[in-house]
Amino acid sequence: MTTPNPPSTTPRTQTAVTVLDFDGTMTDAEAEGEPFVTGYLEDLEALVGAETPEARARVRAIVDEVLAELVSAPERHPFRWKGKAVAPASVDPYLRMVPIADRVFDRFDAFANHVDRGRLTGGVLYKHNYGRTKGRPVFRDGAAEVIAGLAGTETFVVTNSHTAAVAEKIRMLDQQHGGGCAWLAARVHGDAQKFEVDDSWNGVPAELVVPGLESRNVLLRRRRYHDRLKALLDGLGAGWPDLTVVGDIFELDLALPLGMGARVVLVQTRHTPPYEAAFVAAHPRGVVCTDLRDVLRLP
Ligand SMILES: [Mg+2]
Repeated sequence: MTTPNPPSTTPRTQTAVTVLDFDGTMTDAEAEGEPFVTGYLEDLEALVGAETPEARARVRAIVDEVLAELVSAPERHPFRWKGKAVAPASVDPYLRMVPIADRVFDRFDAFANHVDRGRLTGGVLYKHNYGRTKGRPVFRDGAAEVIAGLAGTETFVVTNSHTAAVAEKIRMLDQQHGGGCAWLAARVHGDAQKFEVDDSWNGVPAELVVPGLESRNVLLRRRRYHDRLKALLDGLGAGWPDLTVVGDIFELDLALPLGMGARVVLVQTRHTPPYEAAFVAAHPRGVVCTDLRDVLRLP
């Protein structure tokens, strides 16, 4: 653990509840996403008619250019959902492909209509290529140990992915490691819609100022995600101070629960924007870790 902060002063006297994000938190999204990226790039080449080696090299040069920009300034490249900036685009291979596709289409004068383009990049190309990652999950070091170590506690998975897909990954992990993990498969809550911001809901302040993210503030009113977490807490007679949420993208997984009073654990990767790690490390209810097994060592 890299955070120097003392443990939270909020009493966690009732039932302790742990909520895990899944993709990128329990899995290695980069390794798992490789077939997605490969397939997506092939589709992009086909869609802009890049049939010659020269045209394909031009596409790859555009890809490299966008990747370099994302790495050097993640704060300037948000992933947008329904017009709102809801996450950094740089953090995982799935989100990263959208600004890449946009730049390729722009340079090749393809799909100028932004509604059509959005359907293509966020819809068809996403779904079609996400299917390529099926059946070959790549887990983070320590994933099986952490899940086995949490057996018997009130732990759940809350994910944007489909419930069945994540439950299947957990069963595969259980088989690979000779047991200890299968119990979590029945505790997966999918389609959490962490991207959805509802401005009409005022259960939490609208925005959070994060130093280093100068161009925008983090949007907190993720009502669907809130309702999902609240239902879990209510079912256990627990409250927000009893909750610890573990995730790999602060903005998506952790900002809302932090705003509600939960403790948050940011599992860092090499793509975590530095401003996210600094913000969580400085927060009295925030923990940053690079080793997933640190989750078992939380106070
Ligand atoms: Mg994730």
